[in-house]
Parts: sequence; structure tokens; C-alpha cells
Amino acid sequence: MNDCIFCKLANTPNAIIAENQHAFAIRDINPSAPIHLLVIPKEHIRSLNQIDAKSETMNAIIKLAQDLSNDYQIAGYKLNCNVESAGGQEVMHLHFHFLAKSSDKSIA
Ligand code: 5GP
Ligand code: ZN
Repeated sequence: MNDCIFCKLANTPNAIIAENQHAFAIRDINPSAPIHLLVIPKEHIRSLNQIDAKSETMNAIIKLAQDLSNDYQIAGYKLNCNVESAGGQEVMHLHFHFLAKSSDKSIA
């Protein structure tokens, strides 16, 4: 989608920390935890209320969070999603905040 920052970042290989077929992860530009990543569908979907809960894309988002945890030896994390403006969502392309205190392996 034109003028969507996360659609642009989906096509910026240098920014991408991890990805699978339908989702990618980047660092949050303004981190609020020692590890603050964003897990984002490649497709432009406005918010959690617009995604099919049973879709391959939803599975890919969850799988990517699990893979980040495993690959970087992150013992535990929060996966937060702000839904629509009234729920605090500022970037209107679905994303999950992946927040952790530390990892046993540094994130490239
Ligand atoms: P929201 O409030 O929509 O749930 O969170 C949006 C998040 O996107 C914020 O934590 C903000 O710091 C992050 N963000 C906004 N613009 C950019 C950007 O251009 N690059 C990156 N990496 N993160 C961004
Ligand atoms: Zn987008």
C-alpha cells in the first residue's frame, strides 16, 4: 500500500531481522524494552480486527514470534497488539510488539 511505512519496510531487506512466507520482524524505532521487535504481516492488513483468525498469515505471525524466541534464546516475552486508534494503534498496518528483557544470543 502506498504511504504505509510497514509496507515499505517489508521491502527493505536491511531492516528485516527474521521472516517467513507471510510475516517479518524489525526493530522498533523507539524501543520501550531492552528487546523491542515488531512482528508484521507482509500483506497490508489494517488491524487485528481485519485478519482471518484461521489464516496462514495469522499462523505465520505466531510462528515467527516462536522462532525469534527459539533462535535468540529468549526465555520469555510479551506479544502485544494495539487494535485500532481507540486501542492505541498508531501505525495502521497490523503489527505485534515483541517485548523481552534479554536474550542469550545477540540479535544481529
Ligand atoms: P502502535 O502504537 O501502532 O501499536 O505502534 C507503532 C510502533 O511502530 C511504535 O512503537 C513506533 O515506535 C514504531 N514505528 C513507527 N514508525 C516506525 C518506523 O519507521 N520504523 C520502525 N522500525 N518502527 C516504527
Ligand atoms: Zn501496509
